[in-house]
Amino acid sequence: MVNIGTVTERLARNRYALDEDESHIQVDQEIARSAGMAELLIRVCPAHVYSQAPDGSIVVQHAACLECGACFAVAAPGALRWSYPRGGFGVIYREG
Ligand code: SF4
Repeated sequence: MVNIGTVTERLARNRYALDEDESHIQVDQEIARSAGMAELLIRVCPAHVYSQAPDGSIVVQHAACLECGACFAVAAPGALRWSYPRGGFGVIYREG
């Protein structure tokens, strides 16, 4: 049997180019709030990109995004605008 390592070990092999000027994830706070999206986004994201501010708004730390698309798959219609990072940014090397 082939040892493929733990998820953490495998994710550590990713390399990123951070786009500090532009987030590839935008939250429509009104839609997200009315759909109760905060807890779901926090739970579904393996990279802990989402958190909740004391005022209930959803905070996005796009730098940690693994581009798996899970958040967009579960989001209520209109709650998220998600795209891959613009050219040259994001996950640029993946092994394992
Ligand atoms: Fe998290 Fe994946 Fe969504 Fe990126 S695409 S924010 S890693 S769930």
